[in-house]
Order: sequence, then C-alpha cells, then structure tokens
Amino acid sequence: SNPLDKDQMQGLRGVREFLKVRTSYDVLPLSFRLVILDNDLLIRKSLNILIQNGIVSAPLWDSRNGTFAGLLTSTDYINVIQYYCQFPHEIDEVDQFRLSSLRDIERAIGVPPLETVAVHPMRPLYEACRRMLKTRARRIPLIDTDDETGRETVVSVITQYRILKFIAVNNEQHTMLLKKPVREIGLGTYTDLATATMNSSVLDVIHLMVKYNISAVPIVDKDNRVLNLFEAVDVIPCIKGGAYDELTATVGDALSQRAEDFGGIYTCSEEDRLDTIFETIRKSRVHRLIVVDDDSRLKGIISLSDILKYVLLYGEEEDDLQEY
Ligand code: ADP
Repeated sequence: SNPLDKDQMQGLRGVREFLKVRTSYDVLPLSFRLVILDNDLLIRKSLNILIQNGIVSAPLWDSRNGTFAGLLTSTDYINVIQYYCQFPHEIDEVDQFRLSSLRDIERAIGVPPLETVAVHPMRPLYEACRRMLKTRARRIPLIDTDDETGRETVVSVITQYRILKFIAVNNEQHTMLLKKPVREIGLGTYTDLATATMNSSVLDVIHLMVKYNISAVPIVDKDNRVLNLFEAVDVIPCIKGGAYDELTATVGDALSQRAEDFGGIYTCSEEDRLDTIFETIRKSRVHRLIVVDDDSRLKGIISLSDILKYVLLYGEEEDDLQEY
C-alpha cells in the first residue's frame, strides 16, 4: 500500500490519542480574561461591550437563578436581523430586547434553538471535540459544578481554533505525518459554494449564511477570483448601536471598515497538505482556508470544522463513534 496512507493513519491516531489524554483545561492559557454578560442586558448594549472588548462571543449568566444561560455568538445577532426583516415595523421593540429574549426571537423566526452543550473542564479534550462536531457548535463553554452546592461556574470557552492550535503547537510529531494533499482526502467543500460580490448588500450575504448554515462567504470578482471573505463576525460592527437599517450597505463598504488588527484571510491550494495547514494554524489566527487555483480563482473552502471532523473521524468504525 501507499506509504503516505500508512503515515497519514499513524498521524491521525497519534493526534486522537493526544486528545484523549489531555483535558479541555489543558488548552487554557495560564491567565486569561473572561467576559460574562448578564442575561438582562439589552441586546443593543451587548454589541458595544463585545466591540469594546475585542471579542465576538460571551457566555450569558442568569443572575436570578445563578445559572449559566447559554453562549452569545454572532448567530444570535443574525437571528435578530432576520427578526427585524420579518417584522420591520417592530424596530422599537427590537431596540428594547434583552439577551434573555434571544430564545423568543429564535422561536418567532422559526429557527431551531441552538443546543447549548457544555463540558466539564477536566473531561478529555477528545470529548469536547466530539460534542462540538455532533452539535455543529464552533465553541463550547467549560462549566464546573460544585459537588456540594450544585452551583455552576463558567470556567472559560474553548473554540475549534484553540483546539486545533493546541494540536498544532504540542503535537507536531503527529501532524507532520499528515502528508496527503487535501484534494486526495477530500478535505473541505468544493461544490455548491455560496459566494457574493463587493456590490452585494450585507443583508444579501447574511441571508446566504443563514440559507447555507455557514459562517463565511467568499467575495469574488466576475472571473471568480477571490477578493475577500465576509464572515459572520463582520456583522457585529455593522449593527453597532442597533443600526439595522445600515445593512443595505455594500459588502465593499462594510469590509473597508474592518478593525486595523484584522488578521487577513488565508488561502491554500488543493495540493497543500494538512501538515502545512497545521503549520499555518500554529503561526496565525486562521478561522478557515479558501482553496484557490494558480489564478486566485475560488475552488473550495476548508472550515475548521472540516479539519476537526477529518482529524477525529476519518477511518473510525461506526461502532466506536456511538459512545460519544
Ligand atoms: P465552521 O463550522 O468551522 O464555522 P462553516 O460554518 O464556515 O465552518 O462551514 C460549515 C460547512 O460548510 C463546512 O463543511 C464548510 O466546508 C462548508 N462551507 C463553508 N463556507 C461555505 C460556502 N461559502 N459555501 C458552501 N459551503 C461552505
């Protein structure tokens, strides 16, 4: 058989073993900051807090019951926008919505409520990964419960990016074995790609993200050359202060207002391999890779969930997967 196949399987097994002997707690930096928002906060105000703190998500806290109340993410704001589109005459009510109304908004626009999975920080990291894949969650809160009082503590939130970065930094001896081209292992999505142009409105792109259930849309020119990428988190500055009427602005305008520290977009070719992708993840803040040809034409997109799924599940027997 092909020696690349053997190495590839050995590398994957090594990474899986690594994830089974490490805990979610191991992924956390020695010191970190955690912004938790009270469920009673106005949605409008939550936007400014996220922007001021340079974050795109936060755990919610129900202070009346002293319990964790879910995770606020850009999907929630996209839901509010959809609500506003469906009930445009209710703009005054929308302005008064609190974070605790997010579940009612989901119901009103008919999207299934996001499953709020959480894991205990001392459980194997492998378990957190499996939960993420199962629920399609991009981030997962680490919740500890006091044995005696039953009180919950939100320890932190880990993202797919953090986990892949942790693998990339600590497990190079296994990731370096992953030498099969992404074309060969079918990593990513290559058909029915959702794209938009610089002249599309922000609202059009949001509708695409909802329809395809994706968190980013490549922005291409008339020859399908990749110019940029509009991400779900780019929605947050667009509606700062509750400016829902500004969503008619073009993608070009919205992207030109990106923060100075925007990390840029990452591309790769179909010949690239996971070993080099992990190298990129080790060095940079990558949230997805756009696959392009030699002329920068769009070929596909590789999300972090595609990578995580492949790393965890490729070649596993159905039976072994049941237990998670
Ligand atoms: P993640 O779950 O890591 O945030 P996405 O939501 O962007 O990633 O991607 C979910 C799935 O949809 C992945 O399998 C990815 O390959 C695919 N995908 C991502 N972006 C697009 C797009 N613009 N068009 C079609 N499929 C996409």
